[in-house]
Amino acid sequence: MTMRIGIGYDSHRLVPDRKLILGGTEIPFEKGLAGHSDADVLSHAIIDAIIGALGEGDIGRHFPDTDSKWKDASSIMLLESIIKMAANKGFSIEWVDAVVILEKPKLLPHIASIKTNIARAGIPADCINIKAKTNEGMGFTGRGEGIAAQAVCTLKAI
Ligand code: MG
Repeated sequence: MTMRIGIGYDSHRLVPDRKLILGGTEIPFEKGLAGHSDADVLSHAIIDAIIGALGEGDIGRHFPDTDSKWKDASSIMLLESIIKMAANKGFSIEWVDAVVILEKPKLLPHIASIKTNIARAGIPADCINIKAKTNEGMGFTGRGEGIAAQAVCTLKAI
């Protein structure tokens, strides 16, 4: 098989007194995402898409939240290690498309910075598409209780 596809989804709760980190970029906002790591929901969705395409289970198997090693871990670093794992298994990341679902804040001003971070982790900026959607006020994302992200990726055999 020369081509693989993977899907990833994640969500985290918005709480006071936490930094909001999305795709490795700290975004000024009154709340941040709760989690064992830095709770970077976008990086987690991309990681799970890649792990899925590799047939390697899910993010919890590789970075268990019961392990203090991953407490406050930088998720963009975790992404980098998963991209290396893909290379070790003979795959490069061909394309990533992701959507972040959040009511606030506006993500558009930060997308270039996020793409730069993901490129540094090992996926070229011209192989990544990141977009943001509100949920039109509906559900937990619409009420601002949390942020969700979805990602798909394709891998090709090196
Ligand atoms: Mg997560």
